Amino acid sequence: MRKENIDAFVVSRPENGRYLSGFSGGEATLYITSEKAFLLTDFRYIEQAKAQAPEFKIIKTGQDHFEAMAEIGQQAQRLGFESDFVTFETFEKLKDAFPHAELISLPNLVSHLRSVKDKSEIDLIRLAVQIADDSFAEILKTIEIGQTEEEIGLNLEFSMRRAGASGGSFEFIVASGVRTSLPHGTASSKQIQLGEFLTMDFGAIYQGYCSDITRTVFLGDPGDKHREIYETVLAAQRAGIKAVAPGRSGKEVDAVARKLIAEAGYGDYFGHGLGHSVGLAIHEGPNLNMREERLLEPGMVITVEPGIYIPEWGGVRIEDIVLVTENGCEVLTQAPKEFIILE
Ligand code: ZN
Ligand code: ZN
Repeated sequence: MRKENIDAFVVSRPENGRYLSGFSGGEATLYITSEKAFLLTDFRYIEQAKAQAPEFKIIKTGQDHFEAMAEIGQQAQRLGFESDFVTFETFEKLKDAFPHAELISLPNLVSHLRSVKDKSEIDLIRLAVQIADDSFAEILKTIEIGQTEEEIGLNLEFSMRRAGASGGSFEFIVASGVRTSLPHGTASSKQIQLGEFLTMDFGAIYQGYCSDITRTVFLGDPGDKHREIYETVLAAQRAGIKAVAPGRSGKEVDAVARKLIAEAGYGDYFGHGLGHSVGLAIHEGPNLNMREERLLEPGMVITVEPGIYIPEWGGVRIEDIVLVTENGCEVLTQAPKEFIILE
């Protein structure tokens, strides 16, 4: 805040509020000055806020927090706000509540702090990853030809919830057969059959922190092309992981994996970025993609997830989560990624 020369900062994004205050209820606004920190929320959350955010002064508000904020912040001259999150309507209300203040757009101020995780955060991510790993091992034992993608998705979710996850970290992708060419094919009522790839992209939330894993397995007897594509993605994924190190940009790491896929002749079939950071949100910065200039730092937690998707044929993605260390990275995901064939 000192660097940005603001005398107050309004935090609206729930993950940022949780990160700074500890309050997990979501519906709160933080108002932070150089001397004091306020958490504004309505009566439903007052007790929870007091317990979880002891360093904040809790202010009880109605549905909208602007009136109370205006009272607290009468003196504000330069007021920072999260322009990457607030709606135009919220912006207008902020302007009305602080007619004499200059509103300073500060996208990513807290998100950038969040990108380097401390030990307690890393421990929670490890647990979220472990829950996903264990669920993958469990799901492999229950997959049967004729099950629908939705059933498999549900079984994954049950297994993670039983292991302590508070929920899935996003809407799971379970895609089989030609649907595996859809990078974001959410589970459908399609039944799985022999002779198909089956891609499962899922993750757990554990005490607020997310995990994210993708595994693609084969049902029945794979052909040469299935093997070739799988091995190409796996080689690119391993090369991508090897390239993760502090001081490297997201662009550089992406290029390493992308080059391998292009050299194998599938460059046109890898249309998304190589990875994204993970934390309180499932998608955080920095990313690994063709535009990312930010440099990796120790403590960042990021996915490496190349894929090849051939329309009307199918596709493969393999995704692990890695922790950037002083010298390179540590792979947190433990689930096996050799070509798994389910008979
Ligand atoms: Zn994923
Ligand atoms: Zn991902």
